[in-house]
Amino acid sequence: MDFTLNSEEELFRKTIATFVEKEVMPVADELENKGEFPNSLFQRAGNLGYFGLRYPTKYGGTETNTIMFCILCEELARGWLSLAMITAMQSLMGTNFIYRFGTEDQKKDLLVPAIKGEKIAAFALTEPGAGTDLESIQTTAKKENNHYILNGNKTWITNAPVADFFTVLAYTDKSKGLKGVNFFLVEKGTPGFSIGKKIDKISVRGGTIAEISFDECKIPLSNMLGKDGEGYPQLQGILAEIRVMTGALSVGLARRALEECIKYSQERKQFGRPIGKFQAIRMKLGEIATDLEAARLLVYYAAWLIDQKKSCMKEASMAKLFASEMANRVVDEATRIHGAYGIAEEFPIQRLFRDARFLLYGGGTSEILKLIIGREMK
Ligand SMILES: Cc1cc2nc3c(=O)[nH]c(=O)nc-3n(C[C@H](O)[C@H](O)[C@H](O)COP(=O)(O)OP(=O)(O)OC[C@H]3O[C@@H](n4cnc5c(N)ncnc54)[C@H](O)[C@@H]3O)c2cc1C
Repeated sequence: MDFTLNSEEELFRKTIATFVEKEVMPVADELENKGEFPNSLFQRAGNLGYFGLRYPTKYGGTETNTIMFCILCEELARGWLSLAMITAMQSLMGTNFIYRFGTEDQKKDLLVPAIKGEKIAAFALTEPGAGTDLESIQTTAKKENNHYILNGNKTWITNAPVADFFTVLAYTDKSKGLKGVNFFLVEKGTPGFSIGKKIDKISVRGGTIAEISFDECKIPLSNMLGKDGEGYPQLQGILAEIRVMTGALSVGLARRALEECIKYSQERKQFGRPIGKFQAIRMKLGEIATDLEAARLLVYYAAWLIDQKKSCMKEASMAKLFASEMANRVVDEATRIHGAYGIAEEFPIQRLFRDARFLLYGGGTSEILKLIIGREMK
C-alpha cells in the first residue's frame, strides 16, 4: 500500500501549482467578478495539454490516468473553481461521449480541436422539469429519412454561451423510459438550435451558463453517439469519474480555504495576540485539516479503483458526498475565522464560500448519493 504520489505525479502537481500561483490566482477574483468566460486562461490550459490528459496521443492527448486528472482538478480548484469546472467540462463530460462513441470524422473535427482548446464543448442533460429525475426529460429526437429532428429545452448548460458543440440527451422512444434515451451531437449554428437566457448565479461566475433550445433542429443520423437505446448505460459508464472529479475539486477548494485561514489567523490580532494562538481557533484548524485529509483519501482511493478498472460506484459516491459536504463545512468555518472580513469582497474567502455551493449538485446531490450508497449495503 502506498499513499504517496510518485515522482511523475509530484512533478505534474508542482507544474500545475506553479501555473496556478503565477497565472490563475492573481486574476481569479477580477475574472470572477466579470462573470465572463475566461478566454485567455482557457487557451492557456489547452496549450498546456490539460484538456487531453486521458485521451490517446493520436488525438492529441497524453494517456495519463485518473489520479493525474484528480491532481489537475485539485490544483486548479485551489486557484479558481470556475477554471477547474470549465476544464473538467472540456476534458470529461463535454468530450468523453465523442471519444467513446463518435466516428473518426467527429473525433477529427471536434475532439482533436477541443483537446487543443480551439473548440469549446458542452454537455446537456438538465431540463426545466428534469434535474435529478432524468427520466422526465422532454427533449425528443425523431428519425425522419436521413436525419434526426430534435425538439425540446435544456437548462443550466455550462459553457452554452460560448460552446462550439453540445452532447445532448434526448428520447428516441419515450415509451421505453430510460432505455429509450440517447446522446446526440449538435454543433453551434445548426438551424433550429438556439442559445437562450444566461443564468446569473452567485457561484462559479466564470463558468457561463445558459438555457438552450431545439425547434425542429435537423441533424444527420451519424450524430447519434452509439447505438439506439444505449444513452443511459453510456451515462452510467462515466458517473464514477464525474463524482471523483467533483470530489477532487472539493479537496482543492477546501485546501485553499485552510491556507487562507492559517494566514489570516497568524496576521489578525485580538486581545494583544494573533487569533491563531487561541485554543478555539487552533481546534477549528485541526478539525478542518482532519476533514480535508479524510476527503482526500476517499477521493484518491476511488480514483485509484477507477485506474485499476475495479467497479467503484459506492466508493466514488462516498468520495463525492463526503468531499463536497466537507468543502461546505470548511468554507463555513473559514469565514467564521475571518470574522466580518469573511464576507468582505477584498478577501478571497468569500469567493470560496460562494463557490463551494456548486460542488453540491453536479454528479448527484448529497440526498441521492446517500440513497445510492445505502442501496449498495446489501
Ligand atoms: C453551476 C452549475 C452547472 C451545471 N452545469 C450543468 C451542465 O453543464 N449540464 C447539465 O445537464 N446540467 C448542469 N447543471 C445542473 C445539475 O446537473 C443539476 O442541478 C442537478 O442534476 C440537480 O438537479 P436540480 O438542480 O434540478 O435539483 P432537483 O433534482 O430538483 O432536486 C432538488 C432537491 O430535491 C432532492 N431530491 C430530488 N430527487 C430526490 C429523491 N428521489 N429523493 C430524495 N431527494 C431528492 C435533491 O437532492 C435536491 O435537494 C449544473 C448545475 C449547476 C449549479
